[in-house]
Amino acid sequence: MPKNRPPGPGQKRDRSPKPDARKRRPPKPDLRKPRPPKPDLRGLSLDELKSLVKKLGEPAYRAGQIADWVYTRGVSSVDEMTNLSKALRERLAKETTLTTAELVETHESRKDGTKKLLLKYRGGDHIEAVLLKDQDRITGCVSSQVGCKFGCSFCATGAMGFGRDLTAGEIVAQVVALREAAKPARLSNLEFMGMGEPLDNYANVMGAIRIINAEWGIGIGARRITVSTAGHVSGIQRLAQEGLQLQLAVSLNATRQALRSTIMPIADIYSLTQLIAAIERYSETTGRRVTLEHVLLRDVNDSPEMAAELAEIARRLLCKVNLICYNETTDSVYAPSTDSAVEEFFSRVSKRCPTVVRRISRGDDIAAGCGQLCVPLERTRRRSKGRRPGGRG
Ligand code: SAH
Ligand code: SF4
Repeated sequence: MPKNRPPGPGQKRDRSPKPDARKRRPPKPDLRKPRPPKPDLRGLSLDELKSLVKKLGEPAYRAGQIADWVYTRGVSSVDEMTNLSKALRERLAKETTLTTAELVETHESRKDGTKKLLLKYRGGDHIEAVLLKDQDRITGCVSSQVGCKFGCSFCATGAMGFGRDLTAGEIVAQVVALREAAKPARLSNLEFMGMGEPLDNYANVMGAIRIINAEWGIGIGARRITVSTAGHVSGIQRLAQEGLQLQLAVSLNATRQALRSTIMPIADIYSLTQLIAAIERYSETTGRRVTLEHVLLRDVNDSPEMAAELAEIARRLLCKVNLICYNETTDSVYAPSTDSAVEEFFSRVSKRCPTVVRRISRGDDIAAGCGQLCVPLERTRRRSKGRRPGGRG
């Protein structure tokens, strides 16, 4: 039978292996190592920059020059680093990346001047960050993740689900964008209270904080940086060992395990008892006072009994207390506590704990308040293809 012709009537198909098929071998496995990602200049410490320039055969002082361009001046491309030789710029452009957070949109509150920035990273992911203006300071509210895994029932970021962790370079790029948006005023404080759980993205957040805090970096003092956590106990334990003078805020929101686990699923991973022990240990190790945050939800966690319990925990742990007014989110079942309930709660806590403050709602008219930040994950890619992003919230 001629090759490749179908068998005629009465003829059998030749099923013996073809000579070339017998010779065919499975493809060889690719044993080459995957290429390591290019280092991101926006996420490197001065020491890391020094070893990078050394590898490129350049003198160590080049590292300081690069840090100046990347952190102090916040340039968005290697081409702008005009005091480096053309050859070095070409090698940096080829062998490294420089992450930027592109400003897509700004919303400004008419009520209090709060600004909300919609920022886009390479690859299309979007996040929101906020600038809060007070008389004596400008605070940047920073996101640490695209979305959040922990799904607290009162939080819009929790409702959007989890996209991914931000890299150290992406967090630093976000701070550079916030600093730019604050001008001519100076960005003086930062709080990791935007989208995500910072202690769930520990290494990247700490890498970014070291750059933000350093003189050769962004230069914001550790005491002016607050890390807010939903109660990530192992993260709190690690943070206690860092030897940094950061402010730690813990979103307690309930003084009883059953209620906490209903409104904050993270309480099923780290119990209230474990959390309280971790806070106590953190204060002992660092000598710093922790802030307990309590978002007041009407008829859920605003009873006089809960106020007394919160005051007792704060007194025992030497904590400050921040009472936060609930900012309404889409499809939420919660309502803000009434003015009289807030008043009563505040006065009960302050009887035993003098360091209690009411955090005024800021930027809630542009959905920039605590817990209101959210960019629906399925919309972020479409936005990056040139659609006009709408406001949110
Ligand atoms: N994941 C971290 C940081 C981001 S949330 C954390 O949970 O602490 C920052 C703060 O916003 C937390 O104190 C949280 O309890 C609060 N928050 C969340 N949703 C809120 C809402 N709808 N209204 C007011 N505060 C809210
Ligand atoms: Fe995540 Fe914090 Fe929102 Fe909870 S409150 S869902 S931990 S961002």
